[in-house]
Amino acid sequence: MKQNDHFFHFLASHAKNYGFVFPSSEIYGGLNAVYDYGPHGIELKNNIKKYWWKSMTQLHENIVGLDSSILMHSEIWRASGHIEKFNELLIDNKDSKKRYSPEVLIREHINFMQKAPKTSKFIKNRKNEILSRLEKSIKKKDLLDIRVLIDELNISDPLCGSNNWTNIRSFNMMFKIKEEKGDLFLRPETAQGIFSNFFSVKKSSRKKIPFGIAQIGKSFRNEIMARQFLFRMREFEQMEMQFFILPEEEMKWYEYWKKIRLKWHLELNLGDKKYQLRNHDHLAHYASAGADIEFHFPFGFKEIEGIHSRRDFDLKRHEFFSKKKLRVFRDNLENYIPYVIETSLGLDRFFLAIYSSSLKKEKLDNGKERVVLKIPPCLSPVKAAIFPLVLKDGLPEIAKKIFQNLKIDYRLVYDQKESIGKLYRRQDAIGTPICFTIDYDTINDDTVTMRYRDSMLQKRVPIKEISKIIEKETGMRKILRNLSQFI
Ligand code: ATP
Repeated sequence: MKQNDHFFHFLASHAKNYGFVFPSSEIYGGLNAVYDYGPHGIELKNNIKKYWWKSMTQLHENIVGLDSSILMHSEIWRASGHIEKFNELLIDNKDSKKRYSPEVLIREHINFMQKAPKTSKFIKNRKNEILSRLEKSIKKKDLLDIRVLIDELNISDPLCGSNNWTNIRSFNMMFKIKEEKGDLFLRPETAQGIFSNFFSVKKSSRKKIPFGIAQIGKSFRNEIMARQFLFRMREFEQMEMQFFILPEEEMKWYEYWKKIRLKWHLELNLGDKKYQLRNHDHLAHYASAGADIEFHFPFGFKEIEGIHSRRDFDLKRHEFFSKKKLRVFRDNLENYIPYVIETSLGLDRFFLAIYSSSLKKEKLDNGKERVVLKIPPCLSPVKAAIFPLVLKDGLPEIAKKIFQNLKIDYRLVYDQKESIGKLYRRQDAIGTPICFTIDYDTINDDTVTMRYRDSMLQKRVPIKEISKIIEKETGMRKILRNLSQFI
């Protein structure tokens, strides 16, 4: 098993055993690249959404929210260019019946080409030669040349070793629903719901340029190479914000949003070195400038969020296709189509970033091992756990009373099913930042033992302080306040 496979195996089995993520339709054998979120998964996901939504619609007075439908008029996808241009190349292997992206096959072949020592100029030159030929052929849509390249490099199916390939075809990644009156599509991005509602939102919220519209919702892409757990799914959620601006302020706002979005990530304290900004080499069909925020996953730096300048591409096309004016007035004189800066974060991919970088196996002093999910406390599914040390002498009653008093404000767990050591381990594994244990001293002095997830340090705290401690240790307020200084 490769190291990556080991890691995904560990991650996926932890996610399943502790109720974070389940394979979809598992009792029927599963469905490729579709996942369900379990009881703790949905809480983590909701906390991520809360952090994003508050940052967008509360910290920015000029950003409002929207929840547009998944199904939309099919003309929207003609106008957006997705029917014509949202394509991927694919190739099938006739023996394994597996489908691949020819570009990925060639790139992976290059990666595995004999690891060249620094002096081996020949291999380096050969790699560059192949890459530049591949890029040229993709640009020219020369599918035949890419097919020839696969033959020349003698690339075989990674699963069965067969070289029995079909021709390369171009494949639209939108899921189509056949309807008598014309096809409908499952949206591949949430952004078009924002553009098609631009005028209604502007009018009803009485916003003036510059202003933004934020939306969280499902998107669907029929990915050919769906893999790497939550990284590339066919049904996923996006958190997108379109910011409408004066055309001459394009670069000012593009730079602003790159800075603010990176700041948003860094505030979670996963480590500055985990992030990098990378400008796009190839722009999407709608973009005039683009950058990715990349996260250092256990399998390398990969995109988690895209920031694009879409200029007036979308509104202009919708104006043309819908024959409705989508313009605003400048000083009540000239009307113009606003430019748009987009920030687009994949919720599931971000979930994976948080989850995969927080899940650790740690050696303990007693030689044993613990599994601990060191997620940012403000995102943890359970904020604190409350246990009685023993099930007698009134300790469970005190613990239950504390739990009842605080459950209105925080998502807590009361547990008494196992020994205290096992209860701590279970909370470590689901990322609960603090635990409070009610013991015999509690009866005398109204204090409890507080234990930190990360350091495992323990100290005594008064019962009346518990609420304040949970807020301080696990609340979102501090992060939001820090972030608001940059807005
Ligand atoms: P990629 O290059 O990885 O396919 P993309 O550039 O096509 O991504 P965008 O269209 O910019 O992605 O979408 C914005 C965000 O949506 C991405 O940064 C990513 O976090 C998320 N995303 C896109 N496709 C998927 C997918 N198939 N599964 C999970 N998340 C996705």
